[in-house]
Parts: sequence; structure tokens; C-alpha cells
Amino acid sequence: MSIPIVRTVAELRKAVAEWRKQDLKVAVVPTMGALHEGHLSLVRAALDRADRVIVTLFVNPKQFNSAADLAAYPRTEHEDAAKLAPLGAHMLYAPFASEMYPEGFATTVSVAGVSEGLCGAYRPGHFDGVATVVAKLFLQTGADLAFFGEKDFQQLHVVRRIARDLDIPIEIVACPTVREEDSLAMSSRNVRLSASERQVAPRLAAILSMRPSASPGARRST
Ligand code: AMP
Repeated sequence: MSIPIVRTVAELRKAVAEWRKQDLKVAVVPTMGALHEGHLSLVRAALDRADRVIVTLFVNPKQFNSAADLAAYPRTEHEDAAKLAPLGAHMLYAPFASEMYPEGFATTVSVAGVSEGLCGAYRPGHFDGVATVVAKLFLQTGADLAFFGEKDFQQLHVVRRIARDLDIPIEIVACPTVREEDSLAMSSRNVRLSASERQVAPRLAAILSMRPSASPGARRST
């Protein structure tokens, strides 16, 4: 069992046009690869709602703040394709960087408001990179539905804004965060944690989901 891998916009559009002739509903699941259960849950949700599912794999240089981070990002296309095929996804769109950003590429999609603060405050330009690539993927695929994880909550809001503001006729579907057994959110970057960082990381999730204690002995700030 294998999944067709498409590298160019022309090939992608040709396949989608065929599906459209058959009146099939098309979904897109944008990813940067190194797929894990979190990504696969999005693909399953997309397969439930659409007749054809395109998974995109593009490590988008425009959304990285440092060249070292971009270079260190895991790239496992072969394994990713092997994980997608048995699920029944219909296409892996893994464009060349030169296809996404040909020489002379000069446009940036920038979403004010929701891109600011939170993660955006620490990663200047990150959400412009995300917005630019996501807008391109929406327009290239012409999909009816797009699936995103709630794990990247600010990104979800940025993406919703793009579709609304640019009148792109695509429904944005949010999917719950999939976690490891110890409650750490699954992430392609988790492999880059040292053993001790990996031990501490799930505690952050636990602390963030703690509610203030209502017990009588609890200290109150007035
Ligand atoms: P990425 O490959 O990290 O850019 O993620 C691609 C998509 O998968 C985004 O919509 C993420 O929010 C989503 N995603 C990543 N990790 C998880 C997870 N643990 N649970 C659910 N969705 C996820």
C-alpha cells in the first residue's frame, strides 16, 4: 500500500480538478512532517468528513526564527508516507521549496491582532510565515475543509482569520490535542528534548491545567 506523492502545484491542481468533476469533497491537513499520532488524528478526522484527503508536508523556512532551528527540524518523509498510506489518505503533497517560493517571491500574508502576544511575542515573523504558507496551501489545494490542531491554539486563530479576511471558501476544523501517556502534548520537536527536559516537560502541562485550591487552608491573595 502506498500514497501518491505530489511535488508541484500543477500536478496537485490536476488531481483536485478530477475529484471536483466527480463532485467529491476535498480536505487538506497541513503539516511539517515527522508525523505522530497528533497529526494522524487530524487525518482520521478529515477522512470522516471528506471524500479525498490531501496531507501536506512542507518544512516552511519562512516560519522559523533561526537557521539552526530549521536545519535541526526532523525530516522523515519516507516514514511519514508509510504512516499515511494505511489510514487511507489520498495524497501527500510535499512541494519543493522552489515550488512554494520561486525566485522573486515577494508576498507576505500578515494577520494583525491575533498574531501578536503569546507565542508571537517571542517568535518575531513566525506567524507571518505561517499565514503566508497556509494561504498558499488553501489556494493551491482549493480544499473545502482544513484540519488544524488545538495544540497550536494561536495558529488556529490566525488561520481562521486568514480564511475569513481573504474570503477563502474553506471550513477550518479544530481537533483536540493528542498527548503522550504522561500528558505531554505530542510534538515533532519532542525528540529534541534532553532526557531531563523530557522529564520536566509534562509537569508544565500539569501545572497549566491546575485549578487554584479551594481548601480552607489555601492561601488567598486579597
Ligand atoms: P506541525 O507539523 O507541527 O506544523 O503540525 C501540523 C498540524 O498538526 C497542526 O495543525 C498542529 O496543530 C497539529 N498537531 C501537532 N501536534 C498535535 C497534537 N499533539 N495533537 C493534535 N494536533 C496536533
